[in-house]
Amino acid sequence: MRLSSCFMPTLRENPAEAQITSHRLMLRAGLIRQTSAGIYIWLPLGLRVLHKIEQIVREEQDRAGAQEILMPTIQSAELWQESGRYEAYGKEMLRISDRHGREMLYGPTNEEMVVDLFRNDIKSYKDLPKMLYHIQWKFRDEIRPRFGIMRGREFLMKDNYSFDIDAEAGRISYNKMYVAYLRTFARLGLVAIPVRADTGAIGGDLSHEFQILAETGESTLYYDKAIEKFELATLTGDIDPDSIEKLQSLYAMEEEKHDPDNCPVAPEDLRSAKGIEVGHIFFFGTKYSEPMNARVTGPDGKLVPVEMGSYGIGVSRLVGALIEAGHDDNGIIWPEVVAPYKVGLINLRLKDADCTAACDDLYHRLTDAGVEVLYDDRDMGAGGKFADMDLIGLPWQLIVGPRGLKDGMVELKCRASGAREQLSLEAALSKLGA
Ligand code: ATP
Ligand code: MG
Repeated sequence: MRLSSCFMPTLRENPAEAQITSHRLMLRAGLIRQTSAGIYIWLPLGLRVLHKIEQIVREEQDRAGAQEILMPTIQSAELWQESGRYEAYGKEMLRISDRHGREMLYGPTNEEMVVDLFRNDIKSYKDLPKMLYHIQWKFRDEIRPRFGIMRGREFLMKDNYSFDIDAEAGRISYNKMYVAYLRTFARLGLVAIPVRADTGAIGGDLSHEFQILAETGESTLYYDKAIEKFELATLTGDIDPDSIEKLQSLYAMEEEKHDPDNCPVAPEDLRSAKGIEVGHIFFFGTKYSEPMNARVTGPDGKLVPVEMGSYGIGVSRLVGALIEAGHDDNGIIWPEVVAPYKVGLINLRLKDADCTAACDDLYHRLTDAGVEVLYDDRDMGAGGKFADMDLIGLPWQLIVGPRGLKDGMVELKCRASGAREQLSLEAALSKLGA
């Protein structure tokens, strides 16, 4: 992509409305623009990051055996009346009526709809287990939308729903998702602490929140440092069920539930940090299948309500969480797997014919090799180009100027470490994978 024809409205100054780093940087780097409270337009660079995160989330869902569907954003109130949540959900639900006066709503989540889908088509234990997910926009009329897309009103969520014949099988599905979550966050370069969450009234339920460690997190966590070690192990092969349950038994609590006098973890092994909730998994049994009459015949021929879990990831919130975890004073530092482009190619002197010819050639050879390049071919000073490139945080900067070119050299800068290398054009190309 040539920057001269790109829509990338960067800002020099910090926008007054943004209170936390990720919100400031998302506005300054031209990733998003607000259209009304808690509702944002995703601009080209921001959308590329969102899509890449979405794809990693999708791959790990598929790997765990879930199947992708796409349910609508607009739902009929009837299903929610059946489950009893239409009244209970309160003001966070955006309620709409259509031209016939029928009550509709913009979905804050999809349990009811997926239960309805299930009960119409699945009748026997032989069709179980099933895991169905989608990646779809949600609307929650949050009382205090804030921190940009971190707590928006409209946001992108991956939500998965598991269906099993009994609670034991349900637990297996739950554990599969638990591992899928650890893998997803590890692939994004994030340490996610699975915190045992309270599920309220329904006994026997199981729930974990996945919290990314970041100074601006909304919750304070206390956890056994052994969790971090497990984290690293999750990417290296298949984890056996015993070690999952061992990991789940390690201590991790939100501050409100942490009792220092009765903490089972030795003080030297206890860590405390702020966290951002990026995912939440539940096993809730027959909470929806019972009232909505989603039953299957078991091996003995008897009808039983299906056992369910639901599993959410805040895909759009992850964009902010990644920035909270990766930035410096100059801007964003993207992990390569989600960066909008891998390389920023900086032409220091557009008016110099040799310099521009060399840049054009590098651009074509990189893009032909499948390397994603953002080519700064704008007619402006070097200072502004460097500042923009640091701000948008691409992993590599390939800097080309007339002086170096005379000796056949270009400069390659690593955004994360700041390290700079003088290389021949060929060496730079091969280092970048072309
Ligand atoms: P929170 O406590 O942050 O409001 P929640 O418990 O309401 O989250 P869930 O219903 O479990 O969230 O939704 C699954 C995931 O969706 C959350 O873990 C979070 O990452 C994301 N999410 C929830 N609400 C928002 C929001 N308003 N804006 C952006 N992401 C959100
Ligand atoms: Mg909420």
